[in-house]
Amino acid sequence: MTKFLTMPCISDIAQLLEAIAPPALQEDYDNSGLLVGEPNTEVTGVLVSLDVTEEVVKEAVAKGCNLIVSHHPIVFRPLKRFTGKSQVERTVMAALRAGVGLYAIHTNLDNVAHGVNAMMASKLGLDDFEVLRPAQSTMAKIVTYVPLGDLDAVRDAMFKAGGGHIGDYDECSFSAEGSGSFRALDGANPHVGEIGERHLESEARLEVVVERWNIGRVRSAMQAAHPYEEVAHDILMMDNLHPTAGSGGIGSYDEPMEWPAFVDLVKTAFGAPIVRHTLPPRGPIKTVALCGGTGSFLLPDALRAQADVFLSSDFKYHEFFGTEERITIADIGHAEAEGGISEWLVDQLIVLKEGFPNFAVLLSEVRTNPIHVS
Ligand SMILES: [Zn+2]
Repeated sequence: MTKFLTMPCISDIAQLLEAIAPPALQEDYDNSGLLVGEPNTEVTGVLVSLDVTEEVVKEAVAKGCNLIVSHHPIVFRPLKRFTGKSQVERTVMAALRAGVGLYAIHTNLDNVAHGVNAMMASKLGLDDFEVLRPAQSTMAKIVTYVPLGDLDAVRDAMFKAGGGHIGDYDECSFSAEGSGSFRALDGANPHVGEIGERHLESEARLEVVVERWNIGRVRSAMQAAHPYEEVAHDILMMDNLHPTAGSGGIGSYDEPMEWPAFVDLVKTAFGAPIVRHTLPPRGPIKTVALCGGTGSFLLPDALRAQADVFLSSDFKYHEFFGTEERITIADIGHAEAEGGISEWLVDQLIVLKEGFPNFAVLLSEVRTNPIHVS
């Protein structure tokens, strides 16, 4: 008997989040994904927060939520003991005791074009948003050789599995006709041709781009749809930049904005009490580069893109030096820059209510930002 679920499982929520931001896009140092909990646990409700603290765990319990989805992973470095000595240990122990799962969607959400940086750009009203430093070594190409009569079926299967996606386009492929040869040996069960005889077949060379984390899925779909017993195929790793994944973002204003108006907008849009900045730009602001979280590593990219302002957070004193003539660095604080991502995640998760009307997705009301400004 199939169990009728009235609530989604943690795995359903993970699947939805992974479709939004593939885990493979997280940085090496990161620890995104399911940190506490079992995938087959039914979720009574999700509480979304930027950070996880003991208070947020308490809030989840009080609101009947047994999963917290946060941007920042509470467990970042390996934990060796659980004695309640550190804030991280205490928070994890509280979650375990209360049966609350913890899921983090961190740098993988920073690194998709529609993620954290797009959220920031939309708060600033920027147009023509693009990734500032596109990701490299994320793309591959699967090439296979298909009898002409089966070309459509194989191509469809590869598209359905997620192949052929480039930026704002999907179903991208290339095919050219040629002649394939093979000789079936003893033990083979050839689709066409005779055992022991060379066979020539009119085939199409079919090429489909695929993101590297999808190679397995697309290759399996291709092989399943292909009529041959042994499917000749090449998997080529590409150096192309990913059109919609990478670090930071950049956008522009149709109507350039004066610095004081920009500062007002930033403070209102991000709830930032202060903006720490280098000298204001000499003229009106046309182009703004930005990065949620700690962004100083992208300053060279912002300079190269000739942005008027680079908006981010966590700049150290010495990092403000040296570029005053070329760009204005604006530091609005880490939690302020990224805070809006919780609301955004609530909007993404709310779609699960379609299948599970009683499922709750709530925004945390706990202020987790430990930095206060007086
Ligand atoms: Zn952050």
